[in-house]
Amino acid sequence: MTDTDHDSENGTDSGQTEARSSVSIDEQSDPDSGSSVLDDVVLDSVEDADEDADEASRGLFDDLLSGEPIFEKKEVLRPSYTPRKLPHREDQINSMATILVSALRGDTPSNILIYGKTGTGKTASAKFVSEELETTSQKYEVPCEVEYINCEVTDTQYRVLAQLANKFIEKNRQHLSDHIDELEGLRERAREDGTVLATEEFESLDDLDSTIEDLREERDSFEEVPMTGWPTDRVYNSFFEAVDQTERVVVIMLDEIDKLVEKSGDDTLYNLSRMNSELENSRVSIMGISNDLKFTDFLDPRVKSSLGEEEIVFPPYDANQLRDILEARAQVAFEDDSLSGEVIPLCAAFAAQEHGDARRALDLLRTAGELAERDKTDKVLEDHVRQAQEKIELDRVVEVVRTLPTQSKLVLFAIILLEKNGVHNINTGEVYNIYKSLCEEIDADVLTQRRVTDLISELDMLGIVNAVVVSKGRYGRTKEISLSVPIDETEAVLLSDSRLGDIEDVQPFVQARFDH
Ligand code: ADP
Ligand code: MG
Repeated sequence: MTDTDHDSENGTDSGQTEARSSVSIDEQSDPDSGSSVLDDVVLDSVEDADEDADEASRGLFDDLLSGEPIFEKKEVLRPSYTPRKLPHREDQINSMATILVSALRGDTPSNILIYGKTGTGKTASAKFVSEELETTSQKYEVPCEVEYINCEVTDTQYRVLAQLANKFIEKNRQHLSDHIDELEGLRERAREDGTVLATEEFESLDDLDSTIEDLREERDSFEEVPMTGWPTDRVYNSFFEAVDQTERVVVIMLDEIDKLVEKSGDDTLYNLSRMNSELENSRVSIMGISNDLKFTDFLDPRVKSSLGEEEIVFPPYDANQLRDILEARAQVAFEDDSLSGEVIPLCAAFAAQEHGDARRALDLLRTAGELAERDKTDKVLEDHVRQAQEKIELDRVVEVVRTLPTQSKLVLFAIILLEKNGVHNINTGEVYNIYKSLCEEIDADVLTQRRVTDLISELDMLGIVNAVVVSKGRYGRTKEISLSVPIDETEAVLLSDSRLGDIEDVQPFVQARFDH
């Protein structure tokens, strides 16, 4: 993920460099450049108003720059920004601190499990607490370290252990390098004045030299764990040895821990949670953060009881709490007076419906601001929030549909074709018939009707279709299916899949099925 970010940044950078160099060529050919470049543009646009040469490029940015800016500091509304103040999370933050303070006393803190739906401030609070813990440990010079791992990215036991091992190997190396630097300084001084050694533990310069040499050898002997290829127990041993190198308490934060367990089972947690019984110098404590309230159901009972020694719940925010959060951020993010009064309450209300998701609330506010900017007004209005809500919802649908497996896409496409042909209260059998012919058309495996029924339920859970079970009296029960997302946009996303792209020709065939 970071790599991709990097690439795109580089891309932008080189683009900018090109733009810059072409500007400087113009300036060279124009002796009194400077402000005149801008003046020219302004004059041009007035004088040559009805000349259409260069029309498209001229004024493109002038238009966007005119008008008062709305944002003062938009980054503050982005997910990457970590706020220093987290209103309505004081209780949870205090609970974490109360448990973790043992680390500052040299004891092992209990393991902690944090639960809460997405956007309830778990990551922000955990990062805040870990920063505080590390600063305080530096202040009192107690060896306490926090390692944060996002298990959505680092999602296998191998990767988690390798990342941890390499972090501690790096720390150990750094530690040894610092020590070597100190001793080298001492050697310099000892060369000039032999008496300084008397106060140290070294008998002679040779003694000092050989100690430095030993430390160098030790530093260079640490072998980093490659990102793949080793047996897992070797990776585990590397981590174990690296962490046990010195006396310290280590808090390992495993964010999105449910993703790790879902993908790779609970071996990692099992191995981490039994380490303390074997470590000699150091102690490890685990803080797991989960979006899924039920994920411990999948854990080995021993892991479950060890990991859940302490549990902290992050409840959803209500609309009033979201308002407070938004207001604090908006003060920094927006220019004064650029929000009309109903904007924040409406963002808060929408996000409260979305299980109290603060991320959604912030997205809404930022998107509403961007839409207002595009409208060239200097005030964000209620309507911008409504448009933002639609836009975000549509983006979500597009993303969900785009990443569906092919079979689900075929089922969804069948439902779309039925709706487009005016069928209401679609039932599973009708979907299945069209689905089958679509499969034949693109040579895909045909699943059983039972599996297709399951796929329909999944689409229902994703909010893409709505399937209600209706009773048909003595004919039993059936499902009535309807699309809950905009039909044209959804169809366009499906057809952008290369396998489904060819299916358009199936339309007459589908039509024929209704004719008889
Ligand atoms: P989670 O990890 O529970 O999914 P995050 O901690 O990532 O949620 O929070 C989502 C977004 O909402 C982040 O941008 C975060 O800064 C913001 N946020 C969450 N809770 C608060 C709060 N109490 N005060 C200020 N901002 C918050
Ligand atoms: Mg999170």
